[in-house]
Amino acid sequence: MADITNQSLNEIIENVKTKKVSSTELIKAYVKNIESAKKLNAFVTTTFDQALDKAKQFDNKPNFDQLLPGIPLAVKDLFCTENTKTTAGSNILNNFIPSYESTVTKNLWNHGSFLLGKLNCDEFAMGSSNETSHYGNVINPVGDQLVPGGSSGGSSSALAADLTPATIGTDTGGSIRQPASFTGTVGLKPTYGLCSRWGIVAFASSLDQAGPMTKTIKDCAIMLEAMSGFDEKDSTSINKKKEQYSKNLKDNIKGLKIGIPKEYRVDNMPKEVDELWEKGKKILKDLGAQLIDISLPHTKYALPTYYIVAPAEASSNLARYDGVRYGYRSKQGKDLIEMYEKTRSEGFGDEVKRRILIGTYVLSSGYYDAYYLKAQKVRQLIKKDFDDSFKKIDAILTPSTPSSAFKIGEKTNDPVSMYLNDIFTVPVNLAGLPALSMPAGVDKQGHPLGLQLIGKALDEQKILNIGYAFEKNCGFKNKIKKWWS
Ligand code: GLN
Repeated sequence: MADITNQSLNEIIENVKTKKVSSTELIKAYVKNIESAKKLNAFVTTTFDQALDKAKQFDNKPNFDQLLPGIPLAVKDLFCTENTKTTAGSNILNNFIPSYESTVTKNLWNHGSFLLGKLNCDEFAMGSSNETSHYGNVINPVGDQLVPGGSSGGSSSALAADLTPATIGTDTGGSIRQPASFTGTVGLKPTYGLCSRWGIVAFASSLDQAGPMTKTIKDCAIMLEAMSGFDEKDSTSINKKKEQYSKNLKDNIKGLKIGIPKEYRVDNMPKEVDELWEKGKKILKDLGAQLIDISLPHTKYALPTYYIVAPAEASSNLARYDGVRYGYRSKQGKDLIEMYEKTRSEGFGDEVKRRILIGTYVLSSGYYDAYYLKAQKVRQLIKKDFDDSFKKIDAILTPSTPSSAFKIGEKTNDPVSMYLNDIFTVPVNLAGLPALSMPAGVDKQGHPLGLQLIGKALDEQKILNIGYAFEKNCGFKNKIKKWWS
């Protein structure tokens, strides 16, 4: 049989169901790939023995009626996994072994899959290049000098390099969609509240959302179906009937109205990104969709608003890491206060410290109204722009990122230029909407570029359908040479 690991998740599932491949054979193939891909640094922890046991159990007593029968999956190291180390890319959690399982990973295991390992990410998911991880930067399989995007960079790299058949990430301001775009893969940030946040290491609680990262749209629908659902342990979880996204996937988009926001044509955007957007519009139009020009006037405030709200919430969420309750504790310090201080200064990296400083500043008395409260008001205006537009359209098409993957080290000394990379992804998190990044083409260096489809709240099925139709007609093929093995 040809290499099983370069197939889509859906194809792999079919092969397991028709007994062309066993779960044990699958595990062995992935272990081989992972061992020969150490250069990519995508994994922080591997759980091969445990996975092999689970695969054998599955093969002895297979249940093919599950969504993910006998499928091994590696996940971002931000999801707490019971009895398996969970670092969030940070030194402060270098020895943290949760005694509980996140709801989202538990949902995946309940559908027949099991854990293959934990994937590297930016520290506490703060970053756009996976360079802030305490466990080293991750390399993009597309090219040995390139970042894989962030913060779910281990996830995008592992997926594109065939080290896991699908994966999950988290997206607070773009951390699923931007790495998907940089690696020629599919990434979906669901509606806020569709996937439980319980057991995910918190960054900015009003923005964080878990979602699938996959090779195809169909795979994305399968993973979303498996991981989503109401959870009473998350107070912001939406209580609604479960959808069958993969079964209901349709490629007929005739008559759908697609909004094209003028504010997403930014200064200095490479010509290729603009051309790709044009190509995307043409494909959807040829499939019978109607393109409608729209305006989202507050878009320009999205990035500054995000960089007030996200650090404010992060500074509060990260207060719990004090050397007493979790993970790392400094051996220095004469008294309790000094122990707290040393633990936090030794445990956190520079980007996390920067966010804590910004967050503490914007929440401090005297500045709270001017920054935090104002940002909350602007956030509502950004949301209202989308609400107004969605009265006349079904979905919005934009580029996913203003460029393809940049070089390792290119933006590390310039946080603002790093932050600018999230310009097209951040508004969606502020509005709580679902958005899909799908591979659409390459730039002149052959590096992948993605297009983004934004939907109404809880309209995941529709953007998946549009993505499905687009995928069939776009002709994109991820051509990654395995230079690392
Ligand atoms: N790059 C953004 C940041 O650093 C988004 C991160 C994310 O979505 N987790 O905040």
